[in-house]
Amino acid sequence: MNCERCNKKAIVHTMSMFNVENICMTCKEEERRHPDYEKARVAEAKEVKKGNYNFKGIGFPKKKKEED
Ligand SMILES: [Zn+2]
Repeated sequence: MNCERCNKKAIVHTMSMFNVENICMTCKEEERRHPDYEKARVAEAKEVKKGNYNFKGIGFPKKKKEED
């Protein structure tokens, strides 16, 4: 399958912490370095604790350089 974020062919993929996209490990690494990653992780953990296993994530924040 292809990565839902960068569209490159991905043999190994994983669920994004920010949303429900299946992303490649390169994109996952980028997420880990994202300043909001911890926030996304904590939000996810909070929802799971409440019993919500279908949390859609806080949404992937657009990178500054991609904005006009
Ligand atoms: Zn990717």
